[in-house]
Amino acid sequence: MDLRDDQIERYARHIILKEVGGPGQARLLNARVLVIGAGGLGSPIIMYLAAAGIGTIGAVDFDDVSLSNLQRQILHTTARVGMPKVESAARAVHELNSDVRIVQHNERLNAANAMQLVSQYDIVADGSDNFATRFLVNDAAFFAKKTLVSGALSQFDGQIATFKAYASGDHPCYRCIYREPPPPGLAPSCAEAGILGALAGVVGSLQAVEVLKEVVGIGESLSGKLVIYDALNAAWRTVKVRRDAKCALCGSTPTIKNLSQSLIGHAQPGEEFCEVPAA
Ligand code: ZN
Repeated sequence: MDLRDDQIERYARHIILKEVGGPGQARLLNARVLVIGAGGLGSPIIMYLAAAGIGTIGAVDFDDVSLSNLQRQILHTTARVGMPKVESAARAVHELNSDVRIVQHNERLNAANAMQLVSQYDIVADGSDNFATRFLVNDAAFFAKKTLVSGALSQFDGQIATFKAYASGDHPCYRCIYREPPPPGLAPSCAEAGILGALAGVVGSLQAVEVLKEVVGIGESLSGKLVIYDALNAAWRTVKVRRDAKCALCGSTPTIKNLSQSLIGHAQPGEEFCEVPAA
């Protein structure tokens, strides 16, 4: 792939990195990344992927921009309150970088559409705000054999991990850490609990970094590790996580064979709960 002169200038700070270079930038321009949620985490993920020249970004969100989103969801603007979030995201991306094609999936992710959506992309970044969607995305990425970069927030804490349990070796999935979603009503919603806005920027930016690493194929993958950020104490912790042989999805005798079994008895996607479960 030959880069145009304007692309060589736009991506000069990537191209000069010997780990990226022209071939790495070409991989970014050819990549297809699906971002679940165009909200607090999705904003920095989508903006940094667009700035990096990811060729195709799919954004999944069924919600409209509201005034209370703007405290942290930096994709959106006051003038775009009331607009579908995916349309607002597309406008922000177009203004930033016309190399990027953004595909608007203005729909709620569910067991019926998740496989078809995930299968169209090379890699998935989960910026959803509820447990049910998080489990569904984990299962869909596993069945579609796509790497998943997952992020989660609570009031002052964040977590990030990469999952590629479809690959051989000691690669866990999200269910290896958290067996199943909590019952509806147990965890407070983010609207009830609140969140420090810039925390979404920290965690979403880390997700963007991990996506770019996975696409270019550099550095050490975050698969098998969970990074935990405690904003109030300005403390970082990295926990090693292993594949659980008893995991219902990726263990030796799986009981979840398709997405219709992902969420039985639990909250449905879109029912918002504030994370982060204890690791
Ligand atoms: Zn698992």
